[in-house]
Amino acid sequence: MTARDLTSSGVLVVDLDALARNYRLVRDTASPAECAAVVKANAYGLGVGPVARRLRAEGCRRFFVATAAEGMELRGLVQDADIHVLDGVTADTVETLTHFELTPVLNSLAQIERWKPTGRAALLHFDTGMSRLGIGAEEAEVLFTESARLSGLSIKYLMTHLACADEPDHALNREQLRRFAQLRELLPEVPVSIGNSAGAFLGADHCGDLVRTGIALYGGNPFIDRDLPLAPVVRLSGRILQLREVRSPVTVGYGATRTVAPPATLAIVGIGYADGYLRCLGNRASASVNGVRIPVVGRVSMDYLCVDVSALPAGTVHCGDSVELIGEHVSVDEIATAAGTISYEILTGLGARLQRVYQGKGHNGE
Ligand SMILES: *Cc1c(COP(=O)(O)O)cnc(C)c1O
Repeated sequence: MTARDLTSSGVLVVDLDALARNYRLVRDTASPAECAAVVKANAYGLGVGPVARRLRAEGCRRFFVATAAEGMELRGLVQDADIHVLDGVTADTVETLTHFELTPVLNSLAQIERWKPTGRAALLHFDTGMSRLGIGAEEAEVLFTESARLSGLSIKYLMTHLACADEPDHALNREQLRRFAQLRELLPEVPVSIGNSAGAFLGADHCGDLVRTGIALYGGNPFIDRDLPLAPVVRLSGRILQLREVRSPVTVGYGATRTVAPPATLAIVGIGYADGYLRCLGNRASASVNGVRIPVVGRVSMDYLCVDVSALPAGTVHCGDSVELIGEHVSVDEIATAAGTISYEILTGLGARLQRVYQGKGHNGE
């Protein structure tokens, strides 16, 4: 017997059928824009292999990753797809990009010069208000006056990234679209890629010809105050390791931040912040057993957390039972809000110790 044969307490189930449903929803909503899948950071922590293969099987032909290393790994998983690398090209990565037929997103004049000799396709990224990667206003001006800088380059898309697409009424959205419309005049024939997950739901001007969708595929709602019919893709659960009957008042966990009065039943679950279930969720989040919501009480520790299962009928909870921390009854968005963060951070933070199980068509190379 090896460590691998022992099932861990924490299980992350990834529902590939739900992933496919979300992909079809975004694709149909953004249509006629094409829908590319953003699978950076190991597909937001869910596992790039099963995720990318399933999306490819669903007809997705374009993928975005953050780095050349991620692109290289993805090329080993999907051969007949375009793979775009968001951080562009450097002296260190130019060979990898060409060898694995990865398409960089060029973010500066220096990257344009670096890529040109390869004679291969690229995307051109303009920064219109994010002040992150991308060709800024000054460098764009140089391109307008010295158009020879672009000659010999095969530009597939002009791209920009909206800073506030999750807040549709934010004035910066309009302003970024206005700036981008001016920059497009540089290469008016070239199609454009604008929207992320949020943008995909905001109409043609926020989509462009190609949307770059990440979080919505994985079941996270990109909007703060708008519901979307997304299917939950991840189920994070842990097993009950011990039950405690409370017969006199007790404090729970480090710091004794919570006192529980009798009668109550507490369950210790084998999931902690080392698994990506954030410490700050203690005393704030809910979990679920058999669809019944129960509170997380006391501080979350590295390997364990405590839930109050008193709401469940006596005798129905046992050691070894599974407790849902994220899933159908407790959404990843709810957990993110309780933690004061966004679903992206929750998903990408899910720990390596969790056993990852894939459900639906496409797992095990089917
Ligand atoms: C991560 C990323 C995306 C995907 O964003 P979601 O909100 O997850 O859809 C799109 N474009 C760029 C440039 C990104 O960095």
